[in-house]
Amino acid sequence: MTVHEYGADALIVCDSLVRIYQVDQIEVQALQGLDLLVAKGEMVAIVGASGSGKSTLLNVLSGLDVPTAGRARVAGWDLLRMSHADRLAYRRSVVGFVWQQTARNLLPYLSAAENVALPMAFAGVRAKRRRARTAELLEALGMGAKADRRPGELSGGEQQRVAIAVALANSPEVLFADEPTGELDSATGDDVFAALRAANTELGATVVVVTHDPEVSGQVGRTVAIRDGRTSSEVVRRTEVDAHGQHRVIAEEYAMLDRAGRLQLPAEYRAQLGLRDRVRLELETDHVGVWPDRPAPEDGGHP
Ligand code: ADP
Ligand code: MG
Repeated sequence: MTVHEYGADALIVCDSLVRIYQVDQIEVQALQGLDLLVAKGEMVAIVGASGSGKSTLLNVLSGLDVPTAGRARVAGWDLLRMSHADRLAYRRSVVGFVWQQTARNLLPYLSAAENVALPMAFAGVRAKRRRARTAELLEALGMGAKADRRPGELSGGEQQRVAIAVALANSPEVLFADEPTGELDSATGDDVFAALRAANTELGATVVVVTHDPEVSGQVGRTVAIRDGRTSSEVVRRTEVDAHGQHRVIAEEYAMLDRAGRLQLPAEYRAQLGLRDRVRLELETDHVGVWPDRPAPEDGGHP
């Protein structure tokens, strides 16, 4: 047992996660050594271009897909070493899932309340407790007044809010949502995002939400960017109180340093300073300096 095991106190740990799809004779590396830690109670957004591996990551974390290599642990469950029975139990009570396609989240012939109660019935929750929990969840997500409507009688955004209630029914440790606002217009999408925030702050769920909208970083504590199947950068948002008592939101961008010490510099930094192929590094007392190999002629470069 090592003392500083990577992510020992995190709720979600991905360590050098690899997922290779084999299609005919071709290998697709959807995840190429991805590292990610999420603490209990966090709300994290995952952003990245189409094809960067976001859905693959969520499918692995939600127990639908098995990674090829690496380590993945959620709430103490080792996702590479789960039996079939473990996997069913995991998906039923440890994680909740909201899909992009509104129609995939709800059964069309059941009311909103019946949809929310269903996973509890599968888990053997008594009828009285089911009713109370259903009412509590629909109320918290602003759907209390429409509990008796079927999905077809609800807007897309309302269906997604009911879907969040369904996903939370068995009080999972983590709520995963894969582009839950992708089929909605932006105002409706904002409502669904607000519902995810309510799930996080009011109902205490840890939330991991995938979105292709990079603007969400203002709405969550941390935004993790994925590029080519790897975590490439993070934006962490925190509130600071200045000398006049004014609250200021500060967003700081971090690059991810992998366990081999590799770092990816943002493309705009590289372009602006002409950093390519080889850079000069200098160790200072509290930071590391990075300079272009050949300084630009007009400014003489760094001494
Ligand atoms: P994202 O959700 O970020 O758009 P995905 O995780 O869906 O990305 O896909 C990552 C890469 O893996 C893409 O190149 C995609 O084509 C490939 N991929 C995803 N699922 C499969 C699959 N079932 N079979 C083969 N390749 C896949
Ligand atoms: Mg996707």
